[in-house]
Amino acid sequence: MSYDVLIIGGGAAGMSCALVLGSANKAPFAANKKIGIIMHQKASALSNGLFNNVLGIHPGTTGKEILESGKKHLSDLYAHIDQIEKEKVVKIEGVSGGFTVFTNKNQYKTKTIVVAIGPSNLFSIDGLMEFVEPHRSLPPAKERIQLKNKDHIVTKGIYVAGILAGWISQFAIAAGSGTQVATDILSKWNNGNPTMIHEVS
Ligand SMILES: Cc1cc2nc3c(=O)[nH]c(=O)nc-3n(C[C@H](O)[C@H](O)[C@H](O)COP(=O)(O)OP(=O)(O)OC[C@H]3O[C@@H](n4cnc5c(N)ncnc54)[C@H](O)[C@@H]3O)c2cc1C
Repeated sequence: MSYDVLIIGGGAAGMSCALVLGSANKAPFAANKKIGIIMHQKASALSNGLFNNVLGIHPGTTGKEILESGKKHLSDLYAHIDQIEKEKVVKIEGVSGGFTVFTNKNQYKTKTIVVAIGPSNLFSIDGLMEFVEPHRSLPPAKERIQLKNKDHIVTKGIYVAGILAGWISQFAIAAGSGTQVATDILSKWNNGNPTMIHEVS
């Protein structure tokens, strides 16, 4: 399988990125783009959370519910995005325009990668280890990590999104980071014109 963008990680940042990329499906510059998201959700920070302080999320909603409803939201509205379930990324090879992403079960070709897998110090994706550094915003005692980046760009063709990009850990910040990366990718596809996807009621 070959993608224009493959998002790694189906948490707050990864799913937000996928939703905004998916919502561009009516724009000519995005119409034929192939997008996938590796929906590994076993190690999500959302798994144990209770969310009372996020605008638009009903108080009392659990992170487990957000993980489930996010997948359904994405497949109901933007079914053209491939959701790859129960696979964990272990290695990345190649250069911008021609990466191979290896999981524990398969391998995928992609032109662009978005890494949104959270700041755990158990991070171990071969091909990205050279970019790992201590997290700039979280307490040092937690020993969290981030990927070196400038405005979410790790290196040509690889973006990082969410708390792994160095942001402090709140749902809306992670989601906003994934959204920013999506609009940056859309702007690139749209010949560098700043691009937002808005709909009217
Ligand atoms: C207990 C708890 C309570 C919280 N409560 C709140 C709260 O009340 N309000 C608030 O705003 N925030 C809260 N947060 C913070 C919020 O959940 C995080 O900031 C947010 O989920 C981070 O989003 P993310 O996308 O960066 O990472 P995550 O949501 O953790 O997503 C990362 C995803 O990457 C996947 N992944 C990991 N490794 C791989 C791999 N090798 N290959 C493929 N996929 C992989 C994981 O399975 C996961 O699905 C809480 C966090 C915790 C832990």
